[in-house]
Amino acid sequence: MTNDESPSIIAASAGERPRQGKDIAMKKLAVVDRGVCVACGVCVKNCPKGAISVYRGCYAAVADEKCVGCGLCARQCPAGCIAIRERSEGK
Ligand code: SF4
Ligand code: SF4
Repeated sequence: MTNDESPSIIAASAGERPRQGKDIAMKKLAVVDRGVCVACGVCVKNCPKGAISVYRGCYAAVADEKCVGCGLCARQCPAGCIAIRERSEGK
């Protein structure tokens, strides 16, 4: 550290976590309209992350922590019931 650095600059750089590539890629999330889903499983077969499954043969459910928001499931869904949304803060 040099004597030129002000304490506020040092505090800001120490306290803020820099955005990593993974954070940026996971800004979006697949959301299923369960009332429209026909539980066909097409989305399950097309998800590269294994992030979506058919829950008890009733509707597709997304594992938030695995989904990267790529949209492949939404493009293949015959019922058009998957939307890609921005993740809310902390999700
Ligand atoms: S592809 Fe669409 S209709 Fe089929 S299980 Fe997935 S969300 Fe439901
Ligand atoms: S958006 Fe991509 S990662 Fe997320 S459930 Fe759909 S296919 Fe899987």
